[in-house]
Amino acid sequence: MHILVTNDDGILAPGLAALVRRMEETHRVSVVAPEFEQTAVGHAITLADPIRVRRVHRNGRFYGWAVSGTPADCVKIGLLELLDSPPDLVLSGINPGPNVGVNVLYSGTVSAATEAAILGLPGVAFSLDAYIDPDFTPAARLAARLVDALAPRLSGDWPEGICLNVNFPALPLAEIKGLSLTRQAVTRLHERFEKRLDPHGRAYYWQCGQEPKHRVEPGTDVWALARGLVSVSPLRPDLSAPQGADWARDLDISLEIIP
Ligand code: MN
Repeated sequence: MHILVTNDDGILAPGLAALVRRMEETHRVSVVAPEFEQTAVGHAITLADPIRVRRVHRNGRFYGWAVSGTPADCVKIGLLELLDSPPDLVLSGINPGPNVGVNVLYSGTVSAATEAAILGLPGVAFSLDAYIDPDFTPAARLAARLVDALAPRLSGDWPEGICLNVNFPALPLAEIKGLSLTRQAVTRLHERFEKRLDPHGRAYYWQCGQEPKHRVEPGTDVWALARGLVSVSPLRPDLSAPQGADWARDLDISLEIIP
């Protein structure tokens, strides 16, 4: 298979390297990744600036293209300009830190997979539930196994407009309890800003919202990770809410607001 690998942590990120190394064992891999870290840029694309692309070599050989843009830019420009043939699959990650609950909306990692879905390609986002000293080895092994399991379904049997958001618990392989098909949790972050002073006495802020750990609904991505399960959530770029449409229809406001 030909696999396009990207991320939101930058082309030199260890999580990307771990994924690339595993995938290269059995597949043809093309790396198109942001030149610099793009964590939490969501589904942003670059329109007000030009996009520069640089060829990156590692260990004496071509490693991939570094793009001065976002993860969504990388998938687009990879597919439309850089790769010599369309990939069979787009992978994003492995991100240090989980992408669950509302974080999915902020996540550059997940947005690369959603961009693949928009462009009509199968996409999978991988994140590991560890920020500090993450060991990507078990996650990369499981990612490779998941890709092998998905491989027969890629051509013609992948639902249109769907991508997968995969989160790994930060556990050794032997302690991972299994895999759970989940839905996105709707937990609100515990929003918080830390106020500090710069050397000139002016205030600045660090945003440091956290996922709440309590009242986790069963069957969600947050719930699965808390139980040592690999969470697999199918996502789609269509954010429409049919329940909201029913509610809005009941308001009966359609004609009155148009003079
Ligand atoms: Mn990241």
